[in-house]
Amino acid sequence: RIKAEGRNGYRFFDVTMQQEAQKRWQLEEGLYKAVERNQLEIWIQPQVSNEYVITGAEVLLRWRHPEKGMISPMDFISVAEESGQISAIEEWVLEESLSLLSRWQATNLPSTFRHLSINISPSHFMQADFIQRMLPILERYPVPGINIEFEITENLLINNFKQAIETMQVLQEKGISFSIDDFGTGYSSLRYLNQLPINVLKIDRSFVSGIANLDDDAPIIDVILLMAKKLNLEVIAEGVETQIQHQFLAQRECSLYQGYYFSKPMHHRDFFNLLMQDNGVINTPSDYV
Ligand code: C2E
Ligand code: MG
Ligand code: MG
Ligand code: MG
Repeated sequence: RIKAEGRNGYRFFDVTMQQEAQKRWQLEEGLYKAVERNQLEIWIQPQVSNEYVITGAEVLLRWRHPEKGMISPMDFISVAEESGQISAIEEWVLEESLSLLSRWQATNLPSTFRHLSINISPSHFMQADFIQRMLPILERYPVPGINIEFEITENLLINNFKQAIETMQVLQEKGISFSIDDFGTGYSSLRYLNQLPINVLKIDRSFVSGIANLDDDAPIIDVILLMAKKLNLEVIAEGVETQIQHQFLAQRECSLYQGYYFSKPMHHRDFFNLLMQDNGVINTPSDYV
């Protein structure tokens, strides 16, 4: 009896595994061609102040697949990391973003827009030639007055603290700043906050979404904001979807936000239009439901 079930079980398991492996392999193969076929797109989400001024933005990658439609980075970044393609892809992201930005600067960008964040995968960041490969790109597209920030995650720091700090210091001297993305969800030693050249903590969306139900995450946000203040770090609240969440955060002296309440990520062309439209101000935030 057990044997018979086992056989069925195995068969089912095999098929699922095979389908998963095949899907992954297809993504991996497709990704190799995605850059040269112009299938990767720079999308951008505004970061705003309490006055709804767009003070900065985050670059978020999208893959427009000819058959599968738009593919989320949640579905292909890990594939890119495991297949070793992430470095080439993120070099493209940096180059494309800076090139856009320098073209935009030829117009009269609102002077309140001062900042662009780019996500860097831990496996890319820890490559021995990370600095050597990124610096020439940064030097090729000077964007005076705009601060370029690399978003890294806490997990990067677990095994590579020494190397990470060295890399960060070199880049900091070249004008790059750093933020901790998804703060509060990863490796949670507080020691690194004081030792690394970090400027910004991005409060993870999971804490912000807890605000609506007034559940246990409210005190966590209090603590993060207080700690950031003591350590002289800026805070960006991620995933703000409602006015209630915004008000809760604003009452606690949070000053920067990123979330659907203000704006979803959009194609870089739309972002540029938004920026130019009302002098870089978002006029009508509305609850995301
Ligand atoms: P992330 O860096 O934490 O970026 C924020 C994510 O939260 C984005 O998802 C954004 O669309 C989403 N988000 C922002 N506001 C809200 C909100 O109010 N509600 C909800 N439900 N979501 C919100 P997205 O664009 O799907 O990207 C997912 C993740 O993919 C990013 O999370 C980042 O970790 C990764 N990613 C994107 N582009 C890159 C890249 O160029 N390199 C690397 N290594 N990772 C990237
Ligand atoms: Mg990010
Ligand atoms: Mg995040
Ligand atoms: Mg993330």
